[in-house]
Amino acid sequence: MNNEHNKQNKPLWSGWLSKSQILLFEKCPRAWYLSKIKAVPPEEKLHLNNGRDVHSLFEWVYTVKDKFNDYEDLLNTLKINKMYSLHKQQAENFAKLIKEISLSKPLYTEYKIFNKKLGVVGILDRIDKINDEYFVVEYKWHFNEFAFKDHVFELSLYSWLYEQDKGVKVNKGAVLYVNDKILRLIDIDEQSKQEAVDRVYKTRGEMIRDMAKGEEGFEKRPGKWCKYCQFAKYCQGK
Ligand code: SF4
Repeated sequence: MNNEHNKQNKPLWSGWLSKSQILLFEKCPRAWYLSKIKAVPPEEKLHLNNGRDVHSLFEWVYTVKDKFNDYEDLLNTLKINKMYSLHKQQAENFAKLIKEISLSKPLYTEYKIFNKKLGVVGILDRIDKINDEYFVVEYKWHFNEFAFKDHVFELSLYSWLYEQDKGVKVNKGAVLYVNDKILRLIDIDEQSKQEAVDRVYKTRGEMIRDMAKGEEGFEKRPGKWCKYCQFAKYCQGK
């Protein structure tokens, strides 16, 4: 977050949408408004920092080797990194889960795609090619059924983005829940990709509609997620 930008109180929204923006708007339009239009500084949340740390650890391990012999080989390499001691359990779970998919270096990690047609930017955690099939793979912290639906949307959107970017078919996805040691493999069909694209268009339409009415146009939707909201202190009377 650029604090200078915030001091000047300029909107941060460039028009590009990310899956996080779409999900935030769907949960609470006011939170999206505070983040992207009013551009208030978000409150730091510990769980977000933990997520960033483990992502960089899982990315770093492939800078050491292109292929691991087995689980122990991967785990012993992770142990070299000083972040391992802070996230020992998650690193061990990662090694156990990823070996079910591949012990080789992915094609890409943290792969950024801008799609002008849809006005979307996506940063894919990793893309693997296994037996001539492409896999979009995401790392998440906790599993729950409610969030899993969002993760299926995310993988469907990312599959579509990767297809548009590279001209290849992507019909497989995986989510590694590295705190809970759960792996979910997902078949991504054409319908789920189309639904993800339609959802982006629909959300963008709602954002534009609400913008015409100013701040009050962005509905507050208080719920259980308020305790995780990075903009709660700016939300009077939630
Ligand atoms: S505190 Fe709750 S109601 Fe207020 S902006 Fe955040 S999510 Fe929305």
